[in-house]
Amino acid sequence: MAPESPVLERVPGQAQAISFLMQAAARPHHAYLLAGPEGGGKSLAARAFAAALLCERGGCGDCRDCRLALDDKHPNEFIVEPEGRDIHVDTVRAEIWHPAFRTAPEPRRKIFMIREADRLNPAAADVLLKVLEEPPADAVILLLSARPHELPETVLSRCHVVTFQPLAESFVVDTLVGEDIDPTRAALAARLSGGNLGRARRLATNADGLAFRDVALEALRRAASGAAGALQAADLVLEAADRYKKGLKEQLDEELAPFLDERGRPEDAYRGAIRRLEERHKRRVRRAERDYVDWVLMAASALLRDRIVVAVGGDAGLLINPDLSTTGRAGIPASAAGLAALEAARAALAEDLNLNTRLVLEQAFLRLGDPLAA
Ligand SMILES: [Zn+2]
Repeated sequence: MAPESPVLERVPGQAQAISFLMQAAARPHHAYLLAGPEGGGKSLAARAFAAALLCERGGCGDCRDCRLALDDKHPNEFIVEPEGRDIHVDTVRAEIWHPAFRTAPEPRRKIFMIREADRLNPAAADVLLKVLEEPPADAVILLLSARPHELPETVLSRCHVVTFQPLAESFVVDTLVGEDIDPTRAALAARLSGGNLGRARRLATNADGLAFRDVALEALRRAASGAAGALQAADLVLEAADRYKKGLKEQLDEELAPFLDERGRPEDAYRGAIRRLEERHKRRVRRAERDYVDWVLMAASALLRDRIVVAVGGDAGLLINPDLSTTGRAGIPASAAGLAALEAARAALAEDLNLNTRLVLEQAFLRLGDPLAA
């Protein structure tokens, strides 16, 4: 029988991976690779595993260690994620190499978590490899990746691989409903996210909910009215992205609260942890515009795709937005060309952080509104 770990037991839909991690939590190795498609629950499992490793009771889910770990805020946790397209060597040096060989802020293990580990650039992977080759006794390193084959073999061979399976859409809906989310909203979020549980949860619980889809609808409507409308559509999307970014900034103060004394000053022991939270937050704020713009473009693509489904007389079960009545006037070729323009914009923005977002959006919306281009 597997040892008890309530915090791990709560991770849904990945029985095999979770039972492996429960066994592992009792006597962990130095490094694990959590491999599987986006949205299958790797992040959730990694947080729960970190809690199980940091909690005195093996992951009770309620103590301070558990709560901080589940929130990505435990001082002994070092989290690395891509900044732009890559994970850079300086980040790995500062967040893994140095702390790995230093005393932990609190008297427990140190947990290193590398999200989207396949984005380590070669120099960063080399530095990580040095830590993996001589791992400090009190460190556990977790790599997460949806593209494990893109990791260097030298890194892969030093990790225990834990495989995560894709989740069925119905499972995502049931999970969200189990978390007290309204069933209609859960179904819509699951569909829009393509069965990605993490994204579905964010969509369903986001304060402004599916507001980005309203932005997408309005942008499509304006873009259809011609060149002036296309430029307005780009404006509209950027304004909404800016509001989203401002909201994120306000969250930082809340996140820092647990590490401040009664007078609102940082406690000495947590200066490092606070600095890391601030850094991570800055990265998130920097990414916010691109993230939001991507959601809007994704939603706009989904809307055009639904028009095609309706135009070819497809089954309503195939619609991504079953709650909307699809009334696009554009025909199949125009919708298909629009879809291509939107997806090209998403790919361009994901690939090159130096691109001017406004220009990319304007170009995509101009192509949408121009019947000749279609
Ligand atoms: Zn605990």
